[in-house]
This record gives sequence, C-alpha cells and structure tokens, in this order.
Amino acid sequence: MKGLTLNTITPLEGTTESSIFQERCNDAQCRGCGHVGLLPVLDLGMMPPSDRILRKDQLDEEERRFPLDVGFCPECSLMQILETVSPEFLFGPDYMYFSSFSPAWLEHCRGNALDLIESRKLDESSLVVELASNDGYLLKNFVEKGVPVLGIDPAPRQAAAAEKIGVPTLNTFFSSEVAEKLKSEGKQADVIIGNNVLAHVADTHGFVEGIHTLLKPDGVVAIEAPYARDLVDHCEFDTIYHEHLCYFSLTSVDQLMRRHGLYLNHAKRLPTHGGSVRYYIEKVENPSSDLKRLLKEEQDLGMTQIDYYRDFARRVQSIREDLYRTVTELREEGKRVAAYGAAAKGTIMLNSAGLDVSTIDYVVDRNTHKHGWLMPGVHVEILPVEKLLEDQPDYVVLLPWNFSKEILDQQSEYRKRGGKFIIPVPEVHIV
Ligand SMILES: [Zn+2]
Repeated sequence: MKGLTLNTITPLEGTTESSIFQERCNDAQCRGCGHVGLLPVLDLGMMPPSDRILRKDQLDEEERRFPLDVGFCPECSLMQILETVSPEFLFGPDYMYFSSFSPAWLEHCRGNALDLIESRKLDESSLVVELASNDGYLLKNFVEKGVPVLGIDPAPRQAAAAEKIGVPTLNTFFSSEVAEKLKSEGKQADVIIGNNVLAHVADTHGFVEGIHTLLKPDGVVAIEAPYARDLVDHCEFDTIYHEHLCYFSLTSVDQLMRRHGLYLNHAKRLPTHGGSVRYYIEKVENPSSDLKRLLKEEQDLGMTQIDYYRDFARRVQSIREDLYRTVTELREEGKRVAAYGAAAKGTIMLNSAGLDVSTIDYVVDRNTHKHGWLMPGVHVEILPVEKLLEDQPDYVVLLPWNFSKEILDQQSEYRKRGGKFIIPVPEVHIV
C-alpha cells in the first residue's frame, strides 16, 4: 500500500516498572479527590486514540499517539489514566461511534428506559435528560411513551441523527454552565441518564456539579460505567483507552458524589461492556441494602488497596504476548487471519498485541460508516461483515469479546464452513 508508514510495534512496549511511568504517577493528581501521587497500575505505552480511524489518503500525515498508562489513588480508590487527551480532538467531527449499530446494547437500553418510566412514574409532565445521548437510541424509548426528553451530545453527526428520529438534542459538551442555563430556562430533570460518559469527562467535578444543578430535588440520576472490579478480574485491559479517563468502583463513586452533595443510594451490577454498574444517585442519602453489600464486597476483596491491582499488569502482558504468538504462528503455517470489530477495544488490542497489516488481512464491522477506513495505529482496512463468508479466512480475532455470543451466533455459517474465532480475553482461546 502506497504511503503506508507502519510503526514497528511489539507487544512488549510499556512496563510497569519504568522510571518515567513512576514519575508520571508521582506527579499525577487524582481526578476524583484531588490527591497528588498515584500508585502505578499498568503502562500500555504510546497508543493512537482508539476511535480515530483513518482514511487511506491520511496515511501520509503523522498519526498522533499518546501515553496510555493507569494509576490508582490510595485516598479514594479511583483507578484512572494519567493522560488527558483534549476532548475536542477525541470527540470532534471525525468521531464515528454510533450506538445504534449494536442490537444487544439497544435492547439493554430499552429495558432501562421502561424500568425508569415505571419506577419513577414518568409521564408527559416529566423531563428525562440524557448526557452523551449519541444518536438518540435510548431517549427514543421515552419519546415513544410520551415522556419529554432532552439529549445532550457534543458529536455533531450523532446529534443530527438523533434530531432526525425526533429526539431534541443540544449539540454541546455537558458542563455546569450548560446545566445552569437549562435551569434558568425552567428545565430541571426528573431523571438524568448518563451511560458510559462519567468516565469520559476531563472535568469530572464540573460534570457532577452540573448534574446536581440540573436534577430536581426528588429526581434520580442513573449512570452506567464499566466496573473496575470486572475489568481487573477478567483482565479486560482493552477497555482502557484515552476516552476512558476513570475506572470506577462503588467506593470511588460514593466518595466523588459526596463531594457534590449527591448520594449513591443504590447500585446494580450489569453484564454490559464486560461488566458494568448502574449507579442510582439522589440528593438525599438513603442507601439500599444492595449498595451496602456491594460496598462491603469491595472492602473484603481489597479493592481499596493497591495489592488488588498489582497482578493485573502481569496478566495483561501475558495476553498481549499470547495473542501475538498465536497469530504469528498461524501466519507462519500459511493460515489467513482477519479480525472482527473495528471499535475502540479492537484498536487497543491490535496495537498492544502488535498485530498490524503484516498479520491481519482486514477487520470486518457492521458499522457502514467505517467501511473503507483504516484502524488507528495498525492501519488494517475495515470491510463489511459479509466479507467473511465471501473470503472465508481461516481465523478471525474476535475483538468485541463482550458481544462474543451474538457474533458467534451471527457467524454460524462461517464457522460451519470451518472458520474459527480467536477470543483474546480473559485469556487467548480458539472456538
Ligand atoms: Zn482520589
């Protein structure tokens, strides 16, 4: 391919012990409590922004990479990445993530919406606000039931797509200023939803302050975020990327909310994204027995201590090496290997395992917006899913392992014809 400048990547980049990493941790200020001096957890080296796919004509331009390293706060137990890449760069006009391309996720969100309508007795006099509402896939469930909504999302294409399906959307980043403005217009929310957004915001405190402003006195906040406990226990290191600044536990969310006069009252563990928690937050403290139990589990597991995170980096390293070895050995045997899933996780897995155009023929993805584009860093081309049956590669690395079941079902014909999937997490295995 003309103009292709491949970075030589090995899966051995980044070590927990490097003095630079140690120094970066010493200087870092906790995003949750402000404590200076984090403890080193994991260093993945220099990584491209995970969603920033490239056009072929961009290959001659320099592709930016940023350190991707993780620290742990000994004060509030918050696991977090050290580097903040500017949100305008990450979520600007080229941001391509459309939620509507995953049926399982849509179903999950619909269930959440119907639950909230029932439990909070929402009707035409209520207001539901969603932060990072993407293409309106969740709020449209409220619209269908006659409940007024407002979406807030900074990505222009997604906001436009939401408007098109009847979901009013403010095309902006949510902040305390935006919340003040809405409140001054008489808009306060009965329910504020934020799925996979709290971990993404650089100004954590402005964001939580904004939630406090926008919430009615008896309103509820229902936010979902991947759970640090699942991430560490199942070695889901490819969910660590520059867009995800924080990796929350109940303990760290509880402390963060208290700083802003909000209370974590209830929490529910969810299977989504490899294990998430839905946090229910209100203005009056009233902890549920489930919440108390889950907080105690975190204490008992040692999640409030660094020891719990120490072994994680070693297990991550072993996945990176195993995957690299598995794929390169198959190539040496003359097998053809493709990958499935051109999303953020895929970027991190391919880059951190050193799998590029020399080992992976192409990546297939259902998102039609991405076809013909190239994966960040490794520059593997993204093609339609149908390519697998047309081309029948011998192996496919299944990158969105959280949708394994769905993808394996969907690809039953490819498998019947002898095709095999390599699933990297929680350890590399072939099905
Ligand atoms: Zn902290």
